[in-house]
Amino acid sequence: MKLNFIGIGGAFYTELGCNAAYIKEEDKILFIDYGLDTFDKTIRYNLLNNINKIYVIITHMHGDHVGGLATFIQYAAIALNIKVKILDNSDTFSEKLIALLDIMAVDKSFYEIVKKEEFDFSFDVNLRKTKHTPMLECYSIIFSKNNVKTLYTGDSNEIDYLKLVVNDPKYEDIYTEIGEAISVHMDYKEIMKMDKTKITLMHIESEELYNKIKDKGFNIPEYLK
Ligand SMILES: [Zn+2]
Repeated sequence: MKLNFIGIGGAFYTELGCNAAYIKEEDKILFIDYGLDTFDKTIRYNLLNNINKIYVIITHMHGDHVGGLATFIQYAAIALNIKVKILDNSDTFSEKLIALLDIMAVDKSFYEIVKKEEFDFSFDVNLRKTKHTPMLECYSIIFSKNNVKTLYTGDSNEIDYLKLVVNDPKYEDIYTEIGEAISVHMDYKEIMKMDKTKITLMHIESEELYNKIKDKGFNIPEYLK
């Protein structure tokens, strides 16, 4: 399954935008993470044209993945009269998300926290708890459609899990983050040993890293500038 990317940058490399993606089907849109600059691009690129239902999955609570969500929910409710549906990752995760939206003065009637069964798309969504920073509850997303799977790692450093998925024929598309400087991300050196035809790299933390993975011929998605 192909994802449309809004941004592909790591938190501090703003040039590539906050890492986020979307999928549109008919009058529905699903956002995968909603970072600091995602709202700006949602508006500039008219992503909500002809949209009546909005769904969001947040992989974890770092600002570059959730920082734009409050304003977006307010906009959808006030300007478009659409109640955003956010995936209930877990009780503890949703509790924190609601607290964050409360602090940002988002009216509780503007959004809903929903189970994955309420995601009304042609594909299924499953979450897998992953490891990123010790304090944080983080998730990878596995999309399934007609027995074909797609992995979106989110921010993660579980390189052994990624290796398993790369070798699993059920996975057609694999979107993985990559990092070099700190250990909370997928290790660049390990990724460079993988089959580059099978993976697409995202959440790129620097210009240097971007140039290196491009030179080595790895897939980097197009994104909204
Ligand atoms: Zn993160």
